[in-house]
Amino acid sequence: MSQATGGSTELAATKPPPICRDVSMPPSISRLRRHANRDQNGCCFYCGEPLWEPTEEADAEFARRIGLTRRQARRMLCTAEHLHPRCDGGRDTPTNIVAACLTCNRRRHAQPCPPDWKAYRRRVRSRLALGKWHASGRLSCRDAHTADEHYDAAK
Ligand SMILES: [Zn+2]
Repeated sequence: MSQATGGSTELAATKPPPICRDVSMPPSISRLRRHANRDQNGCCFYCGEPLWEPTEEADAEFARRIGLTRRQARRMLCTAEHLHPRCDGGRDTPTNIVAACLTCNRRRHAQPCPPDWKAYRRRVRSRLALGKWHASGRLSCRDAHTADEHYDAAK
């Protein structure tokens, strides 16, 4: 006979959807991040490197496709970056959220008062030009300028 199947069905219904790393993010931010990623042609807003979207591709596949180690690939995780930081009142709006790699996002917000996004982007690009930002030391996303133009026009 069936025993405790109602309990397991109820448990399954409350289980979060199997979306890697997005489970803790409100759906609206997740959606805005995906839209920004698409608008930026899959490249980080700051460094211009290809972003890893875990809902679409495993880290090993992304690493192999881009020519990175898996560890390097995980640093390219696509995150929702608030141009105007939330700690300063920045909101979850399409004009305030861009797609950025985990490295760029974390480094900007590692300080108590994150730098202005324009100054930060200039710093990231200058460090990239010197090969001193990512371990791979390259700017490989050919569509990075497209993301720049999109957001420069929007601001
Ligand atoms: Zn980046």
